[in-house]
Amino acid sequence: MKKRVECECGWVLETDDEDKLVAGVKQHASEVHHMEGVTREQVLSQAKPV
Ligand SMILES: [Zn+2]
Repeated sequence: MKKRVECECGWVLETDDEDKLVAGVKQHASEVHHMEGVTREQVLSQAKPV
């Protein structure tokens, strides 16, 4: 199932691969928002089925 995460800055990531979703959101959070330590649970709780 495809899932979508929207960041408050307008960035969007959509994929059916949960590992890619988590990795992508972590990378975005780190690079753009300097947020470290984002957990898989946090990412998945933000994810909505597409
Ligand atoms: Zn963002």
